[in-house]
Amino acid sequence: MRRGGRELAGGVRSGSSAEGVAAVKLHILRCGSMAVAPTVPYGKTGGPGGRLRQLLAAEKDRTELPVFCFLIEHPRGPILVDTGWCRDISPAGVYDPEAVSAVLAARLAAFYRPVLPAGEAVHEQLAALGIRPEDLEAVILTHLDADHVAGLRHLRGAKRVVLPEDEYFWSCRAVYKTRQPQSLWIDVPMERLYYRGSSLGPNRWAIDLFGDESLVLINLPGHTDGQAAVRVRSGERYVLLAADAAFSPRNWREDVVPGFGFSREWQRRCLRWLREREEDPACAAILCSHDPALQPGTLEF
Ligand SMILES: [Zn+2]
Repeated sequence: MRRGGRELAGGVRSGSSAEGVAAVKLHILRCGSMAVAPTVPYGKTGGPGGRLRQLLAAEKDRTELPVFCFLIEHPRGPILVDTGWCRDISPAGVYDPEAVSAVLAARLAAFYRPVLPAGEAVHEQLAALGIRPEDLEAVILTHLDADHVAGLRHLRGAKRVVLPEDEYFWSCRAVYKTRQPQSLWIDVPMERLYYRGSSLGPNRWAIDLFGDESLVLINLPGHTDGQAAVRVRSGERYVLLAADAAFSPRNWREDVVPGFGFSREWQRRCLRWLREREEDPACAAILCSHDPALQPGTLEF
């Protein structure tokens, strides 16, 4: 059951902010796509060769998923959450295996099969909105997977680039060395912030970015160790940017654990937590980074 107003396109529920509180505007930016095995968003990876099947899925079996970034018009200035693909993987805006291989190692390139159509790179979309990288108050990275950080190279000059310390620390794991090529982010000066004890999230760890609860990074481990969801608050209401804790509401509504992650137990706990948030009347929307039903556009809440 969902309460608290009519559901709009993309799962956004109508309803107004508390009186006297200016609505928050959030831009949903589609920064390319990836064609992955169907087990990545929904399905098991277990059994012999499970991981390999994800990597080597045949062309015809792949499912195309969007790669979203989010731009928040915050009172302190524009704040970007994640960065999508970089123009280098798709110089002409079409799938270009050679260009992809110049950015991603062979296995990762085969896993993602990324495309970035013309005009969809993050800096191209910011420019269309009249925003330069140096105008960005902050770039928040939910985690270090390539599809979330590749666009960083277009955002030199942003005032802050913020990453949970836990995500940075665990990038030393062998599996992340493959998933999160350091060449995409290691030379970008980042502010690595520690999660602190909190009432929020399945892990009860969060980072209150400005100390006023307007933007809170909430640890949702499972997909990666340090992954953050971002809670954007407007008065009594909030939107939750769930990163890759779920690929669409189907994951938490039908209890289908995504097939790609390091801990299925933590993925399951995160889905349970997201399901509870959906029942919260204050929750205007939960947006996933790769939800095929989510449409680019603007929402105010
Ligand atoms: Zn992702």
